[in-house]
Amino acid sequence: MTDVRRREITVRGIVQGVGFRPSIHHLAARLELSGSVRNTARGVVIEVEGPADVLAVFEAELIAHPPPLASIDECVSTDIPIQGGAGFQVVVSDTDPAEGGPTIRITPDAATCAACLAELRDPANRRYRYPFITCATCGPRLTVVTGAPYDRERTTMKAFTMCAACRREYEDPADRRFHAETIACPSCGPAIRLLDARGAPLAGDPLSEAGRRLSEGAIAAIKGLGGYHLACDATNPEAVARLRQRKHRDEKPFAVMFGTLAAIEQVCLLGEAEKALLRSPARPVVLVDRRPASVPPPIDDAIAPGMATIGAMLPSTPLHDLLMEAAGRPLVMTSGNSSHEPMVWRDEEVVERLGTIADIVLTHDRAIHVRCDDGVSRIVEGLALPIRRARGEAPRPIRLPRPCPVPLLATGGHLKNTFALGSSEDAFLSHHIGDLDDYAAVQAFRHDVRLYEAMLQIEPRAIAHDLHPDYESTRYAAERAAGEGVPLFAVQHHHAHIASCLAEHGWTEPVIGVAFDGSGFGGDGTVWGGEFLLGGAEQVVRAAHLRAVRMPGGEQAVHEPWRMALAHLLDAGCGIEAIQARHPRESSIVARLIERRINSPLTSSAGRLFDAIASLAGLADTASFEGQAAMRLEALVEGADTAGGYPFELRDVEGRIEIDTRPLIRAVSRDVRRGVAPGRIGRRFHAGLADAVAAVCMGLHKSSGYDTVALSGGVFLNRRLTVAIMGRLAGSGLRVLRHQRVPPNDGGLSLGQLAVAAARLRATPS
Ligand code: ZN
Ligand code: ZN
Ligand code: FE
Repeated sequence: MTDVRRREITVRGIVQGVGFRPSIHHLAARLELSGSVRNTARGVVIEVEGPADVLAVFEAELIAHPPPLASIDECVSTDIPIQGGAGFQVVVSDTDPAEGGPTIRITPDAATCAACLAELRDPANRRYRYPFITCATCGPRLTVVTGAPYDRERTTMKAFTMCAACRREYEDPADRRFHAETIACPSCGPAIRLLDARGAPLAGDPLSEAGRRLSEGAIAAIKGLGGYHLACDATNPEAVARLRQRKHRDEKPFAVMFGTLAAIEQVCLLGEAEKALLRSPARPVVLVDRRPASVPPPIDDAIAPGMATIGAMLPSTPLHDLLMEAAGRPLVMTSGNSSHEPMVWRDEEVVERLGTIADIVLTHDRAIHVRCDDGVSRIVEGLALPIRRARGEAPRPIRLPRPCPVPLLATGGHLKNTFALGSSEDAFLSHHIGDLDDYAAVQAFRHDVRLYEAMLQIEPRAIAHDLHPDYESTRYAAERAAGEGVPLFAVQHHHAHIASCLAEHGWTEPVIGVAFDGSGFGGDGTVWGGEFLLGGAEQVVRAAHLRAVRMPGGEQAVHEPWRMALAHLLDAGCGIEAIQARHPRESSIVARLIERRINSPLTSSAGRLFDAIASLAGLADTASFEGQAAMRLEALVEGADTAGGYPFELRDVEGRIEIDTRPLIRAVSRDVRRGVAPGRIGRRFHAGLADAVAAVCMGLHKSSGYDTVALSGGVFLNRRLTVAIMGRLAGSGLRVLRHQRVPPNDGGLSLGQLAVAAARLRATPS
């Protein structure tokens, strides 16, 4: 006699809006099990009945082969009384509010799946060449969602009434478009249009006409998933130069969209991990190494001046696939904005804001509800190192190692802002908001915080922010806290960096945190940025740091790395002739600023040290964006990481270890006078800095007993330095944590702030 049982299985994680219920239906039908599946606020609840051994197969399969976009956090299964009955039902009535404790999940946008791509290219299919083909496992999600739970009524697709054919697919549990909320076809769904720069319609087939004009050098504004891109022919130097000039963008690299992986490989060297990341459903921009200069570069050099990498991506929507086909060449695909403004995403703003940049506008009538830029990532030692977490990742939650005692908001930093909402163990990071220097960016930040709170139904009961009093994100936190009577948690910048690295690794033990970045408010009147912090989420102690030097002119030094070179030379007692020769008038003024300590705060910033070295090596006296000089330095470095690093000294200063940079500066200065090549100076600098970091970590390991090192801060986007430090520490038996899910730069701060506030709330007796 068979042992028949009925089990209730609750699956939590990203399981709604990803084709989970149809896949359960398929599996149950295949195993001839009866029961039902429904969406609830707790997750997907499955009831399934049949022979015990077959049920075991069902559960194993469920976990082993979820649909591609699903990710299961938790699967709880209990025996319930058997009911008999035949068949397996998909219960469509959505969330029962009485079930309480909602953890709303909004799925990230996902690139067109293989099955939809095949239909797109099949002349017999009714969606042949339809730019909005999607299914239950692919297409827009975050960017079209207007509320929760996820269904068509709460997306911007609500405006389109399904035709009978689409309706049939949508209602058939066996169809791969069962409850595909973005389902559409040429007869009932959105359509594309081509406009001129003043918004007037252009004649002809929009795609072939856009492709033709792009191939003739035009600049196009193109509506993507989360906003408008600006595009031009990446192989046409005049078009690229015109785009730079019209967009007021000096030298910051442009991302390039290629039609296929093979097209990227003609220009770049791809490993298996790069290929997998490029093809992943998130379809981020991936920084990949250019092929050596011996291959004639079909991509214009002005795409990424002075860089050894290109930001490459594959089409993420059917519209992009069709456009790439029509243009027949790689296209620059950069955010649709002017200089530092947020990306344009509202149709009504396109002509006003992009009309002076673009010649044509390829648009459509599916509204974007949530703005979202492209994500950017790179591969280091086979694993992802996120640079910007955005489309395709937001708002996938990061599971916190310890839950938030109350719902939390963390407002993030000032540059590369993201914010985060915490609810029990979930941390929902926003998409990349951008630099909050600009009025429009601050407005977008305020708008999006409220949007996420509504979408995820999280009402913060405490707010975390950066210690810096003048950040817009800090002001916003204070304003909200005062208005709503909730407590505030000020989190030191580098503490948040380390806490974010620990949070993404689920790490709760104390660590040696190395936070290297451009700058952060230290709280002691100096600008920090080369810090070694001992502790964990709740608290850290500053145990070591780079030697602090003057930062003449404050922020101006960020844009003029030669100022940092001068400051370091004077600090090390070296001659400043090389800098004087290049800046005869200004250098004496700047030297006087340093000497008299006028508008020249002390900084221990590692980013500024990179700037100084790049300037001394003659690579960059000015920077059009932060980190440019350091990236140039890294790009030029050739050869293996062998011995011969520049010397550093470790000194004890007020009970802390100081990495004395003066011996290094003297050695660099000597090499520059001898005419040593910049690439070699760069190599010796990276090696020396890695030696110094490893030595400090070993010292702190001995004194604290901690055996884990966490690397965070924007400097750890530098592949060479990261790999060099990891190699040295692993060789000494220390465990190293580095970022793989959120960026090491300020884009990851909000997660760290959230983790710190959660830890402090738990530590406070209520
Ligand atoms: Zn699909
Ligand atoms: Zn239809
Ligand atoms: Fe930072």
